[in-house]
Amino acid sequence: MPENMLNASIVVLVDSTPEGIPTAGALALVSVARALTSAEVVALAPGGLEPSASAVLAAAGAARVLVADLDGREAVAAVAADAVVAAVRSVRPAVALVGSDYRGKEIAGRAAVLLGSACASDVGDLEVVGSELRASKLVLSGTWSTTMTVSAQSDRTPVISVHPSAVEPASPAAGEAEIPVEPLDVPLSAEAAAVKVVSREVSDAAAGPDLAEAQRVVVMGRGTDGDLGLVHSLADPLDAAIGATRVACDEGWIERSAQVGQTGVSIAPSLYIGLGVSGAVHHTSGIQGAGTIVAVCDDSEAPIFEMADYGVVGDVAEVVPQLVEELARLRG
Ligand SMILES: Cc1cc2nc3c(=O)[nH]c(=O)nc-3n(C[C@H](O)[C@H](O)[C@H](O)COP(=O)(O)OP(=O)(O)OC[C@H]3O[C@@H](n4cnc5c(N)ncnc54)[C@H](O)[C@@H]3O)c2cc1C
Repeated sequence: MPENMLNASIVVLVDSTPEGIPTAGALALVSVARALTSAEVVALAPGGLEPSASAVLAAAGAARVLVADLDGREAVAAVAADAVVAAVRSVRPAVALVGSDYRGKEIAGRAAVLLGSACASDVGDLEVVGSELRASKLVLSGTWSTTMTVSAQSDRTPVISVHPSAVEPASPAAGEAEIPVEPLDVPLSAEAAAVKVVSREVSDAAAGPDLAEAQRVVVMGRGTDGDLGLVHSLADPLDAAIGATRVACDEGWIERSAQVGQTGVSIAPSLYIGLGVSGAVHHTSGIQGAGTIVAVCDDSEAPIFEMADYGVVGDVAEVVPQLVEELARLRG
């Protein structure tokens, strides 16, 4: 067995767009799994995939794909968790990996309970030492890193949610062969069977680029006073995703899935722009991986300025239109 690799398979839950295209985060997760095991990486796509997706997954390192007919209900965490359980019972892997966004963390927890196994969430790094899988994550608002051993006990496969921004996207290997796409039967638990999806619509938070994977993020803080139009006026020309502080979500200005920080999403964009964000540690712990940080805030003492590369002390209602105008001028 190669050193520092598992010799049992790994199941990866593949998130995909409504068109059935695997997300960049899902492909990155497959390539992370590929580096951890000498056995096969099995991609689980509960809602099915568009025809060319299996080749993309193969290029990222998957050996086969399991698809389940869940009648459009795979967006429900309880249903997706049942799919993970069915895949684990079928494949008997060393570990199952899911993305660590809101839904992924719920899926990981539910699946681990149903499997009677362990769950580690919000993991930033995975490595194999000897034959042990070790998972590291930031704790205490990003001030400490904790590493734990996550091993299958008595055939009980652990489930780990891995932070999408913590893993590098896979660069597809050219010329990979097609891989088998196999149906998976998913018995639904009573909880999952009780859920009926009555409608689905794209939220403001999800209308642009995916927050967890975006290279540019504009964050809406209390100082925007709920002016989503103002936030969009800067985010849209930058092709940026829109994030938010907890206050902005609590106020109902934007969906909870946009929350960045300790109890929200951790992001690692190359450009972060905070609008009316004070920079509380619960928020900034979620932007530790950001590249250039820009802050617009009317309080020169706000902690966000301690970590900002560029800061503007001013009213967002005055500064943002000027930024937008300057951006348009520079772009001709
Ligand atoms: C256990 C726990 C977990 C938490 N998890 C999270 C989390 O995951 N994510 C998160 O974000 N928060 C989280 N919080 C809340 C966090 O502590 C802060 O309360 C929150 O981040 C503050 O949001 P804010 O910056 O939008 O608001 P504020 O702290 O109120 O800051 C708003 C800033 O905007 C400025 N401002 C006001 N008007 C304007 C204007 N017109 N133009 C420019 N600037 C203006 C103000 O001077 C102020 O500096 C958590 C708290 C706890 C206790």
